[in-house]
Amino acid sequence: MSTTPVSAASPFRVLTSASSPSAPPPSGETEEIHALKPPVDPTTLHHAQLRRDEFWRNIPAYADVTYEQFIDHAWQSKHTITRPEKLIETLQGLVSAEFVADVNAGFHRAPMSLRISPYLLSLIDWRDAYADPLRIQFIPVASRLLPDHPKLGLDSLHEQADAPVPGLTHRYPDKALFLPLDTCPVYCRFCTRSYAVGVDTDEVEKVQLKAKPERWQRAFRYIASRPELEDIVVSGGDTYNLRAQQLQEIGETLLAMPNIRRIRFATKGPAVMPQKILTDDAWVDALTRVVELGRKLHKEVVLHTHFNHPNEITGITQDALDRLHERGIFVRNQSVLQRGVNDTVDTMRLLIKRLGHVNVHPYYVYVHDLVQGVEDLRTTLDTALTLEKHIRGSTAGFNTPTFVVDAPGGGGKRDAHSFEHYDRDNGISVFTSPAVKEGQFYLYYDPLQLLSPEAQARWTDPKEQYRIITNAIERAKGKIRP
Ligand SMILES: *Cc1c(COP(=O)(O)O)cnc(C)c1O
Ligand code: SF4
Repeated sequence: MSTTPVSAASPFRVLTSASSPSAPPPSGETEEIHALKPPVDPTTLHHAQLRRDEFWRNIPAYADVTYEQFIDHAWQSKHTITRPEKLIETLQGLVSAEFVADVNAGFHRAPMSLRISPYLLSLIDWRDAYADPLRIQFIPVASRLLPDHPKLGLDSLHEQADAPVPGLTHRYPDKALFLPLDTCPVYCRFCTRSYAVGVDTDEVEKVQLKAKPERWQRAFRYIASRPELEDIVVSGGDTYNLRAQQLQEIGETLLAMPNIRRIRFATKGPAVMPQKILTDDAWVDALTRVVELGRKLHKEVVLHTHFNHPNEITGITQDALDRLHERGIFVRNQSVLQRGVNDTVDTMRLLIKRLGHVNVHPYYVYVHDLVQGVEDLRTTLDTALTLEKHIRGSTAGFNTPTFVVDAPGGGGKRDAHSFEHYDRDNGISVFTSPAVKEGQFYLYYDPLQLLSPEAQARWTDPKEQYRIITNAIERAKGKIRP
């Protein structure tokens, strides 16, 4: 490799039209080297500025809680709120009576249960509760709920239809999704698995996926009997809620199968209770043992987590993720794109840069699934396309997530850009998934409220619905070469 000497005309010096290379520079500038890109003001690098204040003390109930108590996962679990009445009691004096009534009514209409750790509760800005991106994700308010699109249903991903054993979805050729249990450290309003996850609510009686040894054994036998299966996603529910012994048993059983090459343990935990990683040594040690056993067997064992907003990443999160990093545990992130939460370029870019800062690889951003009862959270496909365009190029390519649509009806994840046809006026897009099911079309619907009044009116008429859908599929067919 040859080296080029730095000359007066090197890229380190900016020549303006007023200055000529031969003329002496105006006084004062002699020593100065002007970069083509001036350095940014370090105070604007918000992704690297993680809060380390005692933010929980703003909540009257936690005003006297010390740092040591607050990072204890047992304290967090013990004080986790699971009843709306308890939530409302804790919020006394922080929110208005109208807001309380709105929350109460929201819970009566929601398909998900409630589970909020003190950590999560204190990260919400209660002075602006309606707009807070964490409140929006976990606590429903009736006044913001919108009517569902006519084409929505529970289990829109057909996870149950593709399950050879209850709680094991085998859709793709070489990988499967194992749901060992049906509880989580938090309940997200937008959950795709609202058909099963959490306890029954006023709106939904859940499918039961208890942590039962016989069901697990059936799942393991199926996985072992399929030589093509090499990659298992252990999800739920959530692997945070597995006991250390259970986590280790699942990991060791799967790693012992010669066909299995990769395991991912999926957990929302780091986003809602990083304290567990800092203080539940038994659980972290069990995970570490499985990762180390995998490494010895030349197999990959990683953690998949789920951050959606930069406010979910604090100094406590960083300490927790540093602990995983020190142990060589690799972490990837999957986000769900949500209206009012992370649907602007600035917020999504900040999230992605901040994830990179704490050594988490942003893997996917999901266009919100067609889940009932959370229409206020969905965005259009076009929003995802716009975000992707603005974000690619802002950081390392490997830290740039793929924006995907999990094709409703069991097509699996598709690159948001890979639609065969997209009618933006009527908010309908058509995808295909040749590796999963040849010849099948999968439809995604934008939320009605973001369409024109004329388009909204069309969707209220069943004949028009039929025409829009048939037309979209015909257009998609025309695009596909024989
Ligand atoms: C998401 C998913 C997987 C894993 O897919 P990747 O694209 O490899 O992350 C496997 N099985 C099911 C049913 C899934 O939904
Ligand atoms: S943590 Fe995951 S599985 Fe559990 S409620 Fe949230 S989105 Fe659903």
